[in-house]
Amino acid sequence: MDEKTFKLDIVAPDRILFKGLVRSFSAPGEIGAFQVLYNHAPLLSTLVTGEMKYTGENGETVFYAVSGGFVEVRDNRVLALVDTAERAEEIDIERARKSQERAIKRMKSRESGIDTVRAKRAFTRATNRLKIAQRVKEGAGVS
Ligand code: ATP
Repeated sequence: MDEKTFKLDIVAPDRILFKGLVRSFSAPGEIGAFQVLYNHAPLLSTLVTGEMKYTGENGETVFYAVSGGFVEVRDNRVLALVDTAERAEEIDIERARKSQERAIKRMKSRESGIDTVRAKRAFTRATNRLKIAQRVKEGAGVS
């Protein structure tokens, strides 16, 4: 294998999502999406809700819906500590739809005591999950 690879760890509070060698890694940084390749300069970035993906040593691309966290890049090692992340294939679409509907109701509600910032965040997470799940159905492995 002459492709240049580096080590990637994707860790959530409750589980290790991935540990292995990859050719590239992309994530939604606070100031924009970024890609890491072999010999990338040191980097520390917070993450926002969006699409995260890696291309493994055999060329397969794996997509995740991520909702915050941070990434450290140093000496050809990438550590992604994520708040939550699900592989596109494991996203429960029905759950995400329900969560999205709940968030919409809360955002529209005029009742006092509704935390609209929290509702907006939940809406963003659910919408992102639906988008990533859909990308896989459409055969997103090429982009
Ligand atoms: P919900 O209202 O459905 O719980 P949420 O956005 O509040 O959604 P989070 O707090 O972001 O949920 O996630 C809690 C846990 O549930 C995490 O481990 C996350 O990976 C998982 N999770 C959340 N939504 C989904 C989903 N649609 N499919 C698969 N796993 C999910």
